[in-house]
Amino acid sequence: MNASLARAFADDLYAWQRTGNDALLARALRSPCSGVPHDTAAAYATAATRIGSLLDAIARSRIAVPAEERDALLRFSERVRAITDETDIATLFDLHVTADCPIEDSVEAFELAGAETADPPGPVRARQTHFSASALNAYAECPRKWYYRYACAAVEDPGSSASTYGTAFHAALEDFHGEFPQPSVALEREMRHKIEGYVNWAFERYRNDFDTAVEVELHKRRAQRTAQRYVDWLIAESKRAPFTVIGREIAAQLDLEGFAFVGYIDRIDRDDRTGSVAIIDYKTGSIATSAAEYRDKVRRFRDFQLPFYYWARSAEGDRVARLALIPLKDALLDVAPVSLEVVPVAATESKRSEAPSGTITVGELELARAKMIEICRDLTSGATQRFPVTTDPSACTYCAYVYACADRPHGERERFGR
Ligand code: SF4
Repeated sequence: MNASLARAFADDLYAWQRTGNDALLARALRSPCSGVPHDTAAAYATAATRIGSLLDAIARSRIAVPAEERDALLRFSERVRAITDETDIATLFDLHVTADCPIEDSVEAFELAGAETADPPGPVRARQTHFSASALNAYAECPRKWYYRYACAAVEDPGSSASTYGTAFHAALEDFHGEFPQPSVALEREMRHKIEGYVNWAFERYRNDFDTAVEVELHKRRAQRTAQRYVDWLIAESKRAPFTVIGREIAAQLDLEGFAFVGYIDRIDRDDRTGSVAIIDYKTGSIATSAAEYRDKVRRFRDFQLPFYYWARSAEGDRVARLALIPLKDALLDVAPVSLEVVPVAATESKRSEAPSGTITVGELELARAKMIEICRDLTSGATQRFPVTTDPSACTYCAYVYACADRPHGERERFGR
């Protein structure tokens, strides 16, 4: 290792140790002396400017990297935490310094590499051993998105404050129903009081996953208002048909003709009068606004989540009579679930009905199951050479791959601007 590089590296680390200036630590990380591959070091150094602390970013694996590079990052982090004024940086980092070696001869990291030849085109096969309803939903929405996420693991989706809001709210409701499995009018005051505490606690647990303290506060307040509306709905529902929550965050596993599916069911209720089971899915993002709209998505094979849960619980011996999505996004609206009663034969219902409740037949759920198997066969056949992009530009709005996806469709306004 060239002496000048080693000296600059050590100077940065001593200065960082004295001042706590993360920019110096980021520069040291990018040095060839750090032991961290250049691209990974550069990515973390950039991420740290957004996240605030480089060592925190490393500790929380804010950017997904292969195991070897992750080990190198952790080694770097461990070493720099051990630095004191007395530390011999060259020994700590195993730098074999050669004082008379000119810089240009030793900086392999900056040597230009020759152009790689492209791999010949070939078939793609799904890598995962397990499937999930969300993977199939991604495929149904845009096969290219599925390819980026599940076949290439192209870039990590860093998540968003909206997804953290969802995670925290789910956690709050899981805890809440642990204490209140049988909501009732008699428990109203207690439930209203306790749910406030559960929401506060959940948002504290996930505080560090929001970008700013203001976001934590705003999302928590939204959740508090929504939670009270949720209790309104629980009370009304317990009067209409008393129920007991018999499962929270239950693992769902299903073997479909050799294809293993896994997932988690937010809540399972048992109707206290009939003993039948309802599968409940909390939704903190946008969802169908009517039962007819959701059923149509199932019929068009655009959503496999509730069909998957239905078949997973039926395989466990449950008599599943109802599938419901609980909207928890908008604090200004009453909580009005989109609910589908599972029936043997189709009822006469208008396709355009705006009603939140409707029916879905076992036959429609069977078709969804058959389609899941068909998609899994395609994805594991190794016969697919190309994954087309969606034709719907709205699918790209929140897609993590939007900057990498040259073929994506462009909306009207974008087309005009090009
Ligand atoms: S940007 Fe659009 S077309 Fe490209 S992968 Fe994402 S959803 Fe598909």
